[in-house]
Amino acid sequence: MKVCVIGAGVIGCATAYELARQGHDVHLLDAAQAPGLVTSYANGAQLSYSYVEPFASPATLRALPQLLLSRGSAVRLHPRWDWRQWAWGLQFLRACSARQSVRGTAQLLQLAQASRAALAQWMAEEDWSFGFEENGKLVLCPTPQALRQQQRQVAVQAAMGCRQEVLSVRECLDREPALQAAPGLPWAGGVWTRDECIADPHHLCRSLVGSLRQRGGTASFGVVARSFVRHAGRVSAVATDQGGITADAFVLATGPAAGPLAARLGIHLPIQPIKGYSITVPFRGGVARPRASVTDLGRKTVFAPLGTHLRVAAMAEVGATGLDVPADRVRTMVDAVAQTYPGLCDLDAPAVWAGLRPATPTSVPIVGRWRDSNVYLNVGHGALGLTLAAGSAVALAGQMQG
Ligand SMILES: Cc1cc2nc3c(=O)[nH]c(=O)nc-3n(C[C@H](O)[C@H](O)[C@H](O)COP(=O)(O)OP(=O)(O)OC[C@H]3O[C@@H](n4cnc5c(N)ncnc54)[C@H](O)[C@@H]3O)c2cc1C
Repeated sequence: MKVCVIGAGVIGCATAYELARQGHDVHLLDAAQAPGLVTSYANGAQLSYSYVEPFASPATLRALPQLLLSRGSAVRLHPRWDWRQWAWGLQFLRACSARQSVRGTAQLLQLAQASRAALAQWMAEEDWSFGFEENGKLVLCPTPQALRQQQRQVAVQAAMGCRQEVLSVRECLDREPALQAAPGLPWAGGVWTRDECIADPHHLCRSLVGSLRQRGGTASFGVVARSFVRHAGRVSAVATDQGGITADAFVLATGPAAGPLAARLGIHLPIQPIKGYSITVPFRGGVARPRASVTDLGRKTVFAPLGTHLRVAAMAEVGATGLDVPADRVRTMVDAVAQTYPGLCDLDAPAVWAGLRPATPTSVPIVGRWRDSNVYLNVGHGALGLTLAAGSAVALAGQMQG
């Protein structure tokens, strides 16, 4: 089959690669000048296979007033005069039930496990270098209450096959000695997940596109998809700013920008942007770099050692649309590094970045065929796109094979 994949973020690159791997004739296109330059550029770098709890949960609902009203909170709401945002908000509140949260966790874990297996298979077949490391993840809980909440989640996930350990503060420090340098921080304990991994999302996109081309696929950049040409009830071409591209099937993998393009086909996607930020700072010479990736739940910040640098990602601004990076957000992340790993990094000139997580109300992505058309959706991966990309690609390719 000739398949056109629109969008070369980590989701589109993985989908195009898997389809080419299965023998399809693939054309990947993107508005940007290279793969992985938008939301998949400098995210938190976590392959968070066991840490997939949906954002909508009873705990989020309980914490919502405090999250939204406290000054300097990592979570902010940017209300707009847009009925889609309010409809999304209502769906999000409905998804905060315990039942939906457990169901979403199960769905996401299943997809994450499929992703782990698929990426391992791909890495065994290809010669890629994208900063992949299985270095474990430590989630630090600021209060006994947060630790108890995490304990409950560990129990729920244990029944779904996850291997996670609840640790005391002492045990956390033994797991990640680099934290020893930060005494007196308010932690009540943590959760250790041994087989969590990290990867550089941008380098992964480049590797996927390189292998796509080696397998005979085409990748075009600087091409904007504007609409679709329909013929006899099916889509026959995508209309771009550089002419039409025909195919037998079309995959929409346009991340946070999926809404307007899908609307051209009469598809309403329940996806809203949740903006977040990252900084990337070099380790100082002569210091022992951290081994594990660390999530500080109190600060809602993740720290991932990526080669010679530390990647720090944080904040969730629901409904924010621009990609500006305000100075106070950078300062908060720089302070977080200085307090969590004193003296570890050179903080003078951090590389700063912002991205819009393409979020569904339940955090579960939309992967599959649109009705009985020749259009397929691979969108809405929210805070887990890097983690879920390989599994979503395999699931979508499987549906296309019927
Ligand atoms: C601060 C932050 C931290 C994160 N940390 C993690 C993490 O640690 N682990 C994890 O798993 N996930 C993480 N995520 C989430 C992850 O980054 C996203 O889920 C993922 O990048 C989404 O990938 P995508 O391919 O769907 O979207 P994108 O990467 O945005 O790709 C979509 C592509 O479509 C193209 N496009 C859009 N419209 C058109 C058009 N009309 N024509 C042509 N091309 C078009 C764009 O140019 C873009 O390249 C994080 C996100 C943020 C913001």
